[in-house]
Amino acid sequence: MMKQSSIKARQMICDKCENTFLYSPVDIKTTNIKIDNQDLLLQCFVCPECDALYPILLIRINDMHYLKDVQESLAAYRSSFNANSQGLDKKLELINKAEEKYKDSRKKLSSAILETRKRLSGYFTYDKQTQKIYYHEKNMEEKEK
Ligand SMILES: [Zn+2]
Repeated sequence: MMKQSSIKARQMICDKCENTFLYSPVDIKTTNIKIDNQDLLLQCFVCPECDALYPILLIRINDMHYLKDVQESLAAYRSSFNANSQGLDKKLELINKAEEKYKDSRKKLSSAILETRKRLSGYFTYDKQTQKIYYHEKNMEEKEK
């Protein structure tokens, strides 16, 4: 098996201009944006050719604790394998518990993200000149396309 580094470049074909480009974690933009009086965090990357914006993560600032829970429970799950406990059964129980907790936190995060996505059905654009990200509500005309 090939060893994979943690920083991976991914190949992406832009839906809009069909340009093929690579993006890696360093190209991901993170920005705070306010929509409908809600503070949100958006992670995205932008096509270098036509500036089409592709969201990776859109989460309410109020839901950020779910993200933290996932990171923390994953760390706890990983360290449960190295836990000093008496007997294999006990250790297995510990691991299973940590795994459940991790799965549960992921579920909560997913539903929070899904909920936000449902409420905000518009789209984002990136302006190269101002380097700003804008949110647009979808109107009826655009829905028909
Ligand atoms: Zn493009």
